[in-house]
Amino acid sequence: METKRVLRHLRGLFTPDPNEPWRTDRIEGAAVALQGGRIAWIGAERDLPSEWTGAEVIDGQGRWATPGFVDPHTHLVFGGDRSQEFNRRLHGVSYAQLAAEGGGIRETVRATRQATVEELVAVGEERLQKLTRKGVVHLEAKTGYGLELEAESRLLEAYAILKSQGWSLDVTLMPAHDLPQEFADHADEYIRLVADQWQPELVRRFPGVARFVDVFVEKGVFTVEQGRRIIESGKALGLTPRLHADEFVHTGGAELAAEVGAASADHLMFCSDEGMKAMAQAGVTPILLPGTTLFLGMRDFAPARRMIEAGCRVALASDFNPGSCACLDPLLILRLGCLQLRMTFEEAFTAMTLHAARSLGHDDLGHLHPGAQARIALWDVNHPLELVYWMGESYEPRMVK
Ligand SMILES: [Zn+2]
Repeated sequence: METKRVLRHLRGLFTPDPNEPWRTDRIEGAAVALQGGRIAWIGAERDLPSEWTGAEVIDGQGRWATPGFVDPHTHLVFGGDRSQEFNRRLHGVSYAQLAAEGGGIRETVRATRQATVEELVAVGEERLQKLTRKGVVHLEAKTGYGLELEAESRLLEAYAILKSQGWSLDVTLMPAHDLPQEFADHADEYIRLVADQWQPELVRRFPGVARFVDVFVEKGVFTVEQGRRIIESGKALGLTPRLHADEFVHTGGAELAAEVGAASADHLMFCSDEGMKAMAQAGVTPILLPGTTLFLGMRDFAPARRMIEAGCRVALASDFNPGSCACLDPLLILRLGCLQLRMTFEEAFTAMTLHAARSLGHDDLGHLHPGAQARIALWDVNHPLELVYWMGESYEPRMVK
């Protein structure tokens, strides 16, 4: 019999309700009963059923309990960083000039191709530790800075090692993240190679490691047609599609995500009303990445309110990556959800927990109702709202599992 434990002396408990898309539950003076790593009961401490009264006690220290965050869109592992380039842009050097000098994503691809698996694992661990300290309990992580078979394979191997070490992550294959320099003006050829040879080979080398496939459908990157080809190859390998879509202009990425039954369409600053309706109908999760809009100094934040009104279960993610969002802070994303996407606190919190987890196929993460995995964040606040309100505070929760 698994040990029974009860989390007591909480100031309160705040959780999305898994039975209603946007409902949250708030229980003052709550207790949480845990057994076998799962939530067995939640409620007011005074209502704790008698079968739990003798159970081992975890002291909640007067804190608020919430589910830990789930981050459903990161480019966790890559070589190098681009802080020098960032400052050069602040000094007025244009992105085109940097690209002409071999900077931008090419710089990251070069550094990633040079990195050993051990080096990639080491940077991955360091970043996962930072995210964990800030309350992230699960995340999605993509390949896509190798853009050649062996470098993509090393990225996938690094993720396989991180998973075997016990890190809680879902891996996405994304060799079609960008067109590598050596294929300039030969996008169709590159797409054919990735779809017909690399993706099958990567899945063969590391069976069961990747669960998803992703492709960057955008003007100047890959077309809807090319995206469809990558997705079809991934689906034939048993991978579920996700999509980088409608980030800088409307290309029909959201519509494509609905057509192919993707788990998510991500970015969506320029998503059409038709795209929103199609996603709502097909059950595609729109994943919005406001940290990227902020970091790029753009003004067009994704139309979260219109998506919610269209019936979409919006999620939020960090898009952690070296070029357009060097952010490992879930609280910044939560705050941007409220301050720039005009989501309510309850909506933004649900978007970073329940809906983020659902987009990755995990019904037992992102909430604290009975049956959920016990991955509980304990915050030293008077109310969870303060996580957004005190917008410069870097809260770090105590974790219970
Ligand atoms: Zn991305």
